[in-house]
This record gives sequence, structure tokens and C-alpha cells, in this order.
Amino acid sequence: MRISENVLISSLTTMRLGGPARYVIEIEKPEDIPEAYNFARTNNLPIFILGYGANTIGHDEGYPGVILTNRIRGISEQDITSAGDAPGGGPPLSVSEMGEEKARQDPPSGTCLKVMGGEYWDDVVAFACKRGLTGIEALSKIPGLAGAAPVQNIGAYGQEIADTLVEIEVFDSVTNTFKTLAKSDLQFSYRKSLLNTTEKGRYFVVSVTLALKKGQMSRPFYNSVERYIAENNCTDFSPQGIRDIVSRIRTDKLPDPSTTPSAGSFFKNIYLTNEEADAAEAKGYPVHRGHDGNKINSGWLIEKAGLKGKLLHGFRVSDKASLILINESAKSYQDLVAARTEIVGKVYDKFGYWLQQEPEEIK
Ligand SMILES: Cc1cc2nc3c(=O)[nH]c(=O)nc-3n(C[C@H](O)[C@H](O)[C@H](O)COP(=O)(O)OP(=O)(O)OC[C@H]3O[C@@H](n4cnc5c(N)ncnc54)[C@H](O)[C@@H]3O)c2cc1C
Repeated sequence: MRISENVLISSLTTMRLGGPARYVIEIEKPEDIPEAYNFARTNNLPIFILGYGANTIGHDEGYPGVILTNRIRGISEQDITSAGDAPGGGPPLSVSEMGEEKARQDPPSGTCLKVMGGEYWDDVVAFACKRGLTGIEALSKIPGLAGAAPVQNIGAYGQEIADTLVEIEVFDSVTNTFKTLAKSDLQFSYRKSLLNTTEKGRYFVVSVTLALKKGQMSRPFYNSVERYIAENNCTDFSPQGIRDIVSRIRTDKLPDPSTTPSAGSFFKNIYLTNEEADAAEAKGYPVHRGHDGNKINSGWLIEKAGLKGKLLHGFRVSDKASLILINESAKSYQDLVAARTEIVGKVYDKFGYWLQQEPEEIK
């Protein structure tokens, strides 16, 4: 493992905000993890786990503790010939984990990928698509590391990682042991899991195991994907074909974090009970009623509050996707607080909904 001192958090996060972290430890192999926790405990310092920093915001005063970053790389795969086969290199899978209701009707025939947490997520998607494996192709180009993907249950264009995740290997900082957590332990829902709710900060994700099948996604695809297909006469719906389509949609709409600082969607969508959804529709608000619940797109609320494209305290509300705040010229977390307060206040005044921030803060 590699230890550095006084590293600017702005250099480790895609929003490019944040003062110095007292220590940053790069974890290069699983055995480094208990050693890094010991280092922090011996020095009586708090720990924050960081991936690529695409969903994390730093504070101006920095962080007085140890930031652990996952640099453990590697992907191993094993064909699945029947439900319940074990993935290569990992602990055996339980049949219940492999064989969800759907999988039982249509036994998986594909591959289990065991991905170490320091792999860049989009490289994992590219790897799977090249092998003709379906299950994560719509999650193309989501910036971040594989170890962070289950934390907020990354999702896009009709897929989320919970759909294919079988289990994760973690280091448990409470018991100081390595463990395997099955998908059923992880309490996945929209942008949530055990890892960012009830057990936030407890587990360091070492690896992620996904069960992917040979084949392709079934239609209808997500609305914007269908629209793109119709407008561009696309005919290739293989995993690589969908990856290409999603990548083009995202490139047109979303900022590239390597050149344009942002943390992706800055606010979560608004989820409503059936009663609230009826009331919202009666007021003419567009409610999407899906398998994951009733939601109003917060980007629509921001746009209708007159904020699309506006520059607020150095942050541009993206004119292509109003949920995204681009850091054009802000240097301080205080600027972000001012911009956030203005947006949340305007949306509340107009619609009566409180927007909630999606990215985590290092504090
Ligand atoms: C332009 C842009 C577009 C985006 N589009 C999407 C999208 O379409 N869908 C979507 O879901 N998200 C999207 N995001 C958000 C982001 O890409 C995801 O949340 C991604 O999973 C973050 O990965 P990361 O490695 O950068 O995580 P970080 O920001 O570094 O960390 C995120 C959280 O995970 C924790 N964490 C990180 N690594 C580990 C680990 N090994 N063990 C335990 N905890 C860990 C951190 O403590 C933190 O709480 C987008 C972001 C940007 C900038």
C-alpha cells in the first residue's frame, strides 16, 4: 500500500472541490486493507473510502483523517452451465442467489465475472460486451470504480447493478474480517443499499461478482434508447450495440468528468406514494409509474423552476440535463452550498417538493 500526506480532495473527485486530506492510502492488494485500518486506529484517525470520486464532494477544510482508495485490479470469469455453478476464484454461490424466479424459468447460460473493486467500471462493461454478455450494457460510461457500483446501486437506461449482482467480498471494519455478502443481504433499492444506509462506512468492498448471460436485452428498451434507435435507424441490439447507443446518448447529454467537473446527477428523483402521485398528476406534473415506484424527474422540476442553463455561484445547471451541476468556476464548497440552497428553495417554492442531494460528502 502507498501512503501520501496532504493530498487535495479536489484532485481525487470529479466535482474538483475540497481541501487537503491528512492521509491518502492506496490499497493495492486485499492484505493492505487491515493494515490501513490499523494505521488509522493507531493514529486515532477517521476513515473515508473513496473510489474514482464521481459521486463524492470534498469540503474546503479537507479531511482530518485517512482516505482509502481502492487500486485492487483484476477480473476473473467462469462459464455458467447451470444455475448454482460457482464463479471462478470466489466462494461458492448458493443456488438461491443464482436462481432468482426469472433465472429458474430461463436457466442462466453465461458467465460469472468476479471483478476486483479497483477496476474502472466502464472497462468491466466493455469486457462483458466484447464477450457478448448481457446484463450491464446499459450501464456503459458511468464513471467510477467497480467497488463503488453496488454502494448506490448504479443504474441507467433500465438496468441497475442489483439486476446482475450475485455477491460482494468485503472487509468488515467492525469484526476485522473478510466476508461475503449475498445480494439478498444488500437491501438494494433506487440509489440505495445497505452500504450507503444502515451500514454506511462499515464495509470496504473488495470485489463484486456479477452473473451475466449470453444474449441481449429484450424490447421495449428505455424510452430515450428507443427514441435514439428510431431516429438513427439502429439495428444492432447486441450488448455491444446497446453499449454503442448508450455511449452516444450519454456523450451528447452528459459532461465528461475528465474535462468538465461535475458529480453527475446532483439531486435524486422524487419518489411518491400512489396518493401523492395522483395529487401530482392532478396538478399536471409528469409522474412516471414504473416497477421501481412512482417518480417525478427532478430535472423536470429544476427546468420548470426556470433554472435550466443558469449559472449560480460558479455552477452551471446543465442545459442538456438539468439534474447536473457543472463546476464552471467555483473554487469553494461554500459556493456549492449557495447554489444548492437556491435551487432547492426555488423548486420547493414552486412545487412543494424538497430536492435531496445524491453525492456523498467527505466529512
Ligand atoms: C458525469 C457523471 C454521470 C453519472 N451517471 C450516473 C448514472 O447514469 N447512474 C448512476 O447510478 N450514477 C451516475 N453517476 C454517479 C457515479 O458515477 C456513481 O455513483 C459511481 O458508482 C461512483 O463511483 P466512484 O468510484 O466514483 O465512487 P465514489 O464517488 O468515490 O464513492 C461513492 C460512494 O461509495 C463509497 N465507496 C467507494 N468505493 C468503495 C469501496 N470499495 N467500498 C465501500 N465503499 C466505497 C464511498 O465511500 C462513497 O460513499 C454519474 C457521475 C458523473 C460524474
